[in-house]
Amino acid sequence: MKGRIAFIPGAHKIEFHDYEVPTPAAGGIIASVTQTNVCGSEVHMWKGEFGRRGIMPGHEMSGRIQSLGAGVKTDWAGVPVKEGDRIAPVYYTVCNRCVNCVTGNHAACTAKVVGARHPDDPPHFTATFATHYFVKPEQHFYRVPDNVPDSIASSANCAMSQVFWSLDRARLAYGETLLVLGAGGLGLHAMAIAKARGARVIAIDGVDLRLREAKRFGADETVDMRTHSDFEARDKRVRELCNGLPDVVLEVAGVPDAFMEGIRLVRNGGRLIEVGNISPGLTVQVPPSLITFKSLEIIGVATYPPQYLKKSLDFLSTHIERFPYREMCDATFPLARAAEALDKSERREITRAGLLPDHD
Ligand SMILES: [Zn+2]
Ligand SMILES: [Zn+2]
Repeated sequence: MKGRIAFIPGAHKIEFHDYEVPTPAAGGIIASVTQTNVCGSEVHMWKGEFGRRGIMPGHEMSGRIQSLGAGVKTDWAGVPVKEGDRIAPVYYTVCNRCVNCVTGNHAACTAKVVGARHPDDPPHFTATFATHYFVKPEQHFYRVPDNVPDSIASSANCAMSQVFWSLDRARLAYGETLLVLGAGGLGLHAMAIAKARGARVIAIDGVDLRLREAKRFGADETVDMRTHSDFEARDKRVRELCNGLPDVVLEVAGVPDAFMEGIRLVRNGGRLIEVGNISPGLTVQVPPSLITFKSLEIIGVATYPPQYLKKSLDFLSTHIERFPYREMCDATFPLARAAEALDKSERREITRAGLLPDHD
């Protein structure tokens, strides 16, 4: 049986390659992909920002178990699985041997492995813009709860699990105030999780749709950057809303200036989580004395420990009616039209595109 997988050889180009679908490794599985999303990183790939050798797009997916490798009886949380069950895999593997893994911080594994560089490399199906996906024996995967549709389960993988972990890293507690800079996908997921754990949530953004979404995903108050266009105005408004300054600030706007704004807007002794800035080379001037005199804790978070995907899926199952998750993915395309999905995502005509490989 043949399967198909996408490859981006350079900016704004996409190829599809066909290969025989491999048999699963002992301890692993072969899944058929039912939905895979265009995440921010796929848009960076589409723009050619990941080097000249090309790259395999796709890391957020949900799928069905097509065949189980020898010995696989449960997912990585001990839930029994069989062929046909719906699963979501973590998109990378951790080594369990480096200094960070050994000390329990698997999110910072120094030997993380994502997919191969080119689909010609066996077992071919190691990225998710594809009809099939090869789950390695050492790769965590979880059974998707029955009440969580594929369109929602696929988004648990990256954005949601990462902010879930980041709020835990910052020890956001019941009754504390969280300020979220940026109401995109990461921000909305963080607002819902923070709200559900009893925090007060304030969001800053400058786009109508995103401000409305923030309210629906748990923000108690929003600050519009168009009416509060300079730092002084935002600072004054945040102080009014928080009766002081927030305990925790989450930076998911993804611009260097927002990092500096987070330092200034968090309370003395507070915690600033940096997630949004991922472009190497971009800088901002920071007076280190501010960090000293405010006794700040600055927490950088990339990816998440694999078990956070399980926590995210369970959270979705419990809160699927409380927050409008069903509307997060606003456009779907067959795999063959991936280029259109990427173009529209790059032009921000759609916020979260899903590809449906079994609809080709
Ligand atoms: Zn490691
Ligand atoms: Zn992602």
